[in-house]
Amino acid sequence: PLTGKVSLVTGSTSGIGLGIARALAEAGSAVALNGFGIAAEIARTKDQLAADFGVEVSYSAADMTSPEAIAEMIAATVANHGRLDILVNNAGIQYVAPLDQFPVEKWNAILAINLSSAFHTTRLALPAMRQNKFGRIINIASAHGLVGSPFKVAYVAAKHGIVGLTKVTALETAEDGITCNAICPGYVYTPLVEAQIDSQARAHGISREKVIHDVLLAQQPNKHFASVEELGSLTVFLASEAAASITGTALPVDGGWTAH
Ligand code: NAD
Repeated sequence: PLTGKVSLVTGSTSGIGLGIARALAEAGSAVALNGFGIAAEIARTKDQLAADFGVEVSYSAADMTSPEAIAEMIAATVANHGRLDILVNNAGIQYVAPLDQFPVEKWNAILAINLSSAFHTTRLALPAMRQNKFGRIINIASAHGLVGSPFKVAYVAAKHGIVGLTKVTALETAEDGITCNAICPGYVYTPLVEAQIDSQARAHGISREKVIHDVLLAQQPNKHFASVEELGSLTVFLASEAAASITGTALPVDGGWTAH
């Protein structure tokens, strides 16, 4: 369904972003990857996507804290692939600490990567999308874009912010063949979640097992982590013609968490 389209997925060297990049490539889209990691592993991921799905794959190492690097990434994507149709703002980091002990540099980094980077990619991608009268902007927010949890002040603020960015983007592009939606996952098992099991254990003073069952999945009524494949499928659907009238939404994929 996405043959001939070009997708850029930020933070796609790992976890959800990589799962989404795979799903978009499987649907026939060329893919521009971005994110940090070991050069040899990234090269292998790139070659594998190209070989598995027969699509063009490029990679940008742009740091999402740098507006200049983001501008270079968008320009390079359009130059390499000739167009930009689908933008997935997925790069994100987490840090867990009580508000009055929250490191200021972590606040600044989380706001830059989880929120401001999506403002920059969006403002810079819109001209290319408007040119083709087609665009799909998919922001990977979180259930924490809709509700709060203790010890995650920067993350919850940034994710609420990206839901707001999604609404304004949708309104300003509504007549241009462009849609913008946010996906709000509950807990998805990825390296980001693995890392916070230990920090939550320290913050709450409890074991890893107790964190998984009583803290992480306590919120998630179905008691399952969502999978990166589920998020990939939803992204492909939102990018398709079938979703042309869905815009400005924040779609929970959270096993019922935000139904509470
Ligand atoms: P992850 O740690 O597995 O992947 C994060 C990706 O972002 C990696 O590719 C990393 O290299 C990249 N990245 C980090 N900092 C960057 C920077 N400064 N510049 C460029 N790239 C950078 O995490 P994940 O769990 O796959 O999370 C992806 C997104 O999904 C995040 O926005 C996260 O907030 C969101 N999310 C995750 C979950 C979950 O349970 N895992 C739930 C809800 C929302």
